[in-house]
Amino acid sequence: MNIQTLDKKYVLPTYARADVEFVSGKNATLFDRDGKKYIDFTSGIGVVSVGHANERVSHALCEQVSKITHISNLYYIAPQAEAAQKVVEASGYDMACFFGNSGAEANEGAIKIARKHGERDGEIKRYKIITLNHSFHGRTITTVKATGQEAMHNYFGPFPDGFVYADGIDEIESLLDDHTAAVMIELIQGEGGVEPQNKEKVQALAKLLKERQIPLIVDEVQTGAYRVGEFTASQAYGIEPEIITLAKGVGGGVPVGIVMTTLKEVLCAGDHGSTFGGNYLSSRAVCEVVDILNELKESGELDKTSVVFNNALEEFYTKHQGVFTQKVGFGMMCGLRVKDGDTLTKIINSARKNGVMLLKAGRNTLRFLPPLTITKEEIDEGFESLHTAMSNI
Ligand code: PLP
Repeated sequence: MNIQTLDKKYVLPTYARADVEFVSGKNATLFDRDGKKYIDFTSGIGVVSVGHANERVSHALCEQVSKITHISNLYYIAPQAEAAQKVVEASGYDMACFFGNSGAEANEGAIKIARKHGERDGEIKRYKIITLNHSFHGRTITTVKATGQEAMHNYFGPFPDGFVYADGIDEIESLLDDHTAAVMIELIQGEGGVEPQNKEKVQALAKLLKERQIPLIVDEVQTGAYRVGEFTASQAYGIEPEIITLAKGVGGGVPVGIVMTTLKEVLCAGDHGSTFGGNYLSSRAVCEVVDILNELKESGELDKTSVVFNNALEEFYTKHQGVFTQKVGFGMMCGLRVKDGDTLTKIINSARKNGVMLLKAGRNTLRFLPPLTITKEEIDEGFESLHTAMSNI
């Protein structure tokens, strides 16, 4: 049976899939079933941070699979402890980690830590979590409710109580009260349209929350793992959150979610857990990916690639000013605002036909999340094809 027929018959239709089936890749280059070549400016929605079929990751995983992949969290797991050390050291924060399997699960863990911390700290139960409009925090019942997008709250209620949405950083202070357990933000909203928060405002918020002893949760599922130049966007913003969540790029394609926190004493044995989280396989991937990214950062290659990519994007933006209204983003998390939604869809389809993979995000944004290992040749080839793709718009 043809793969599309098989998919339509046996897979629930929760995704609007594009008419393409990839069979292999190398770094930022992909090949479909017909052997057609594509430049990947998406890295699988910010996941394949060290490129497709990275040799070091493949080698580490093959070696791990041949020894042991899973035994459960009832026992010590060496690669998990090593992955935690690497992640914490790369961040520079005095934190400890919990390992799950996805961004949403990492955010669930963050919310549980904040809520238990709120219970422990005083007589008044602190349960309220303030998030931002246009945010995206996941698809589970709790994280979908944490997401500040009304349209995503259809059908699935009743939801857990206590989520409050601020219309921007400025509004958060007025929403704080004795019941506030935490504030949860993305420093650069990804799904919401590659929208960076103002650095000074974020620093003022972080200071205020420390004074009020309210934990700040930074959702770095998309911004983490050097996506914006530092290991976490929190480092780039010069803040010290109490809780940070990571997923996507930190596993390089192996499912992993991490919640890391300075609140190391809040969760006790039995409070939280995961069957798969932090098993030998995913932890080994994290170790290898973080090593590779640390080396790229230290050698200066990461920052160089970011400059080359942003220069090419700027040139592309300038050439097509009639279609694009603004260049947005930070590091290798970039976007171009498009004049309307129909044009955005047309650009993505035309780009794919011409061999370039791109993403959509909120606020009519054409989103670029290339692998952090993308070469200059791949960048040049991708933008050359994109110029061709624009001639049909
Ligand atoms: N948080 C942010 C900022 C995200 O961008 C995403 C996914 O796009 C999530 C959470 C959810 O991650 P996952 O799909 O791995 O559950």
